[in-house]
Amino acid sequence: MNHNVSHSTWVTVDLRAIEKNVSAVKAVAEIPVMAVVKANAYGHGMIPVAGAALRGGAQWLGVARVEEALELREAKFTCPVLVLGYVPDSRISGAVNNDISLTVWSVDQLKSITSLAGEFILPAKLHLKIDTGMSRLGAQVSDALSIAERIFTTKSVYLEGLSTHYARADEEDLSSARNQEHEFNTVVDKLAKAGIKPHLVHAANSAATLFMPDSRFSLIRPGISIYGLQSSGARMLPSEFQSALEWKAILSQVKMLPPGRGVSYGHEYVTQKEERIGIVPVGYGDGFRRVVGNQVLVGGRLVPVIGRVCMDQVCVQLDEVPSAQAGDEVVIIGSQGGSRITAEQVAERWGTINYEVVCGLAARIPRIYFDNKT
Ligand SMILES: *Cc1c(COP(=O)(O)O)cnc(C)c1O
Repeated sequence: MNHNVSHSTWVTVDLRAIEKNVSAVKAVAEIPVMAVVKANAYGHGMIPVAGAALRGGAQWLGVARVEEALELREAKFTCPVLVLGYVPDSRISGAVNNDISLTVWSVDQLKSITSLAGEFILPAKLHLKIDTGMSRLGAQVSDALSIAERIFTTKSVYLEGLSTHYARADEEDLSSARNQEHEFNTVVDKLAKAGIKPHLVHAANSAATLFMPDSRFSLIRPGISIYGLQSSGARMLPSEFQSALEWKAILSQVKMLPPGRGVSYGHEYVTQKEERIGIVPVGYGDGFRRVVGNQVLVGGRLVPVIGRVCMDQVCVQLDEVPSAQAGDEVVIIGSQGGSRITAEQVAERWGTINYEVVCGLAARIPRIYFDNKT
């Protein structure tokens, strides 16, 4: 019996690690940090992570959606907050009046915003986003000056920032990112010549922050690195960065099965001999991907997941861990004994990136936080 656990599966988040990672990224860049906490802080939990990021020295919080920004305000975060993505017109006044900065990229958007000015009790703080080569959100470089001038000369709005986003700052070959940096610099210069110098100029995600020092401008926007996760397949994070998240579960059952028994839906796995099988209460309903080749740690050893992944459970082959018994801890991401499974390794098995692994951790998995006070 294990009386110390109250969940069948859970995620732990070390908020001290996040705090330290933010301090580390700030020490590297020596300019203000916008900690990116979108998508529930990459699955880690937005509110606790936002607190840790500010303790670590972040001055800004960046989110993708207005709902996320409002949740921060409801939780009494008074720091500057930028919505990096699209905000529906009906939400603009609410955002402005909660002192939330908005990203803009078109004249049509500006028209919507200024048409609502009568409802504003605070100035609308805008960050003009330029598409310098990501070809996602952003004004084209050729339109940047005219939109900036329009913002600059409109009373109800304030041009707080100028931004862009790199498509390939995580790669070995940084030439594409350098081209984007060059394009962005031409925009910054063109605006400056017209007398427009936005307070904040920002471009760098984690990879650019760490590996393209010239690209930092006056504010950095690290996300993945503050969670201690690798930002690039080509270049490792400095060693002081520490991953904050672990994902664990409890072995719910261990049993011996005779040869020739099919395991899990479809009986895709059939025992060859008498085999020790364990049941782990995690499944695709938790974000555990329904693919072959999964592995977890039991008794400090890597063991294979066998048969199909179910919604709430998987089966593991425990012949290598004869001492395993119901109630033992299972590690899906994290360390056990001398062994470790990283989010990057899970991503590799799932044919994706570490970002998707942690963002995909379902809401139903309880998050347990460690910080300085506990
Ligand atoms: C998500 C995001 C970031 C953070 O990127 P990381 O690679 O996680 O550091 C920065 N800026 C924008 C616009 C983003 O969407």
